Amino acid sequence: MTYVEIRESEGRGLGVFALRVFASHERIRVVNIDREVTDEQPLGQEDNPDHAFLSDGRLLLVGEPDRYLNHSCDPNAYLWYRGAEIDLIARRSIEVGEEITVDYLINNPGGDSWECTCGTERCRGKTGVSFFDLPLDIQREYYPLLAPWFLSHHTSRLAQLRGTTSSD
Ligand SMILES: [Zn+2]
Repeated sequence: MTYVEIRESEGRGLGVFALRVFASHERIRVVNIDREVTDEQPLGQEDNPDHAFLSDGRLLLVGEPDRYLNHSCDPNAYLWYRGAEIDLIARRSIEVGEEITVDYLINNPGGDSWECTCGTERCRGKTGVSFFDLPLDIQREYYPLLAPWFLSHHTSRLAQLRGTTSSD
């Protein structure tokens, strides 16, 4: 049973909305991964590249409803990599009817920058292309949310954050 639904999100296409209250740190659901994109099974005509994301060097095509998770610069959820599975976890308590959002820059090794219109007080405007483009204080805040594969691929760049995080 999933307690989210896909609905129109004002001004930005479809989004994922909560059908019940989620407590902070509660698992909302396990992300639906359609399949891995490989040379043998590349993205097809009907596949949207925006619905595929990089995970530990692999490209995963995400299914419904999770492919409709919109970005926010102050998201109420995040993705938690757990072995082969990915959990969607509440970053703070979420009300019924609230749109569930994630920050696309977390675990992002580099991609597109875009002009964000999330409307939160923390909106960064031009997003930057990777996790390392985030303001340092935001990088520190997100550090505990990073995936094991992202941490191991960027050990030296993250060393500074790790030092400041452990002394907090
Ligand atoms: Zn924003």
